[in-house]
Amino acid sequence: MQILSSQVQEYTAKSSMIRQMFEAGIELKKKYGQENVYDFSLGNPDLPPPPAVGKALAELAVDAGRPFAFGYMPNAGALSARQTLAGRLRDEQQSDVTADHLVLTVGAAGGMNAFFRAVLNPGDEVVCPAPYFVEYGFYAQNYGGCLRPVPATETFDLDLAAIEAAITPATRVVLVNSPNNPTGKIYSLEQLRELGEILMRKSRENNRPVYLLGDEPYRFLAFDGQQVPPLLPLYPYTVIVSSFSKNLSLAGERIGYLLLNPRMPQVEELHAGLVLTNRILGFVNAPSVGQYLAEHCLHEQTDKSVYEERRAAMAEVLDAAGLSYSLPQGAFYFFPRVPYGLSDSDFVALLQEQRILAVPGSGFGCPGYFRLSFSVQKQVIEASRQSFIRAVARAKEKS
Ligand code: PLP
Repeated sequence: MQILSSQVQEYTAKSSMIRQMFEAGIELKKKYGQENVYDFSLGNPDLPPPPAVGKALAELAVDAGRPFAFGYMPNAGALSARQTLAGRLRDEQQSDVTADHLVLTVGAAGGMNAFFRAVLNPGDEVVCPAPYFVEYGFYAQNYGGCLRPVPATETFDLDLAAIEAAITPATRVVLVNSPNNPTGKIYSLEQLRELGEILMRKSRENNRPVYLLGDEPYRFLAFDGQQVPPLLPLYPYTVIVSSFSKNLSLAGERIGYLLLNPRMPQVEELHAGLVLTNRILGFVNAPSVGQYLAEHCLHEQTDKSVYEERRAAMAEVLDAAGLSYSLPQGAFYFFPRVPYGLSDSDFVALLQEQRILAVPGSGFGCPGYFRLSFSVQKQVIEASRQSFIRAVARAKEKS
């Protein structure tokens, strides 16, 4: 009997790669013990939230008895939280942002769903560079949209000519994620500026805006003093979606936001649409505790230097194993090339034999690579060295 809708049945089959990895991980950990499995498969920030988060929670607890402390709130989010956040984003995005340009959301994921619900008509397309965060496709399809991945260049930069060619009258959104999951790439200002020009041209041709959606939950995690360029000054129809999942290690609390470009024509109309979709998707409003934490810990973040050390440790392990990769400029992932021409799933299976968990690049629309998250302790990375060396040796035998 068909328990699930046909679409959800199809999705379940599609997302089985990551689920299989998850299940294989549970089995390996049962068999060899948690500490003997090198699990680089998850993008779940493992650093504790900054101390200010615990302090703010304690203050909130003292105040918990006041009427409506956890009641329904404005669907866009508490005004004070949006005002405080707008202050930070004015600097970050070099734009005249106010509370009226913000909707607080259930994480970046909830924000993207509210956005797609507000702007996509059935059949509309969302163009995005591949590799990409796999959930994008599901989110677009939730509202009758369709993801159109466009392969990035060899260096994982935007292939602007290919993006331009992929934009048709059906294109409603171009979605870029920088720093990127899974490649760690930060797109340069020049590329983004050119992208803005392309979108301006295409919007005119199409006689309706192609939105630029910047997915930025890793903005705080840029290494080597690199800057993540602000998108808002580059193109009027820009929307930023982001969250506090990674910078405050609050992924389970589900708090994020949508930021609309103040320069966007009809920005009030889009804002009202997003407030509505955030509500009628059943989110109603972003979690009140998360809103409180975001407001009171806005200038805090987890210790970036820890991620920097882990990145160095992982690079050293990959070098020792002779794997080829580009050093991530941001976020907490490596996306190395699969060695000896093996398929990504075959190589990931070899890694598993050595008790290493990784995700095949195919899961991100980019076969021939695999993703390693360094949101794990440095000791785990260092301890995995011999296992990587053995897996690569096995790959050579098999090739
Ligand atoms: N976008 C990217 C690129 C991500 O990697 C993630 C989570 O891993 C999300 C969005 C979703 O983040 P959130 O927890 O804020 O919904």
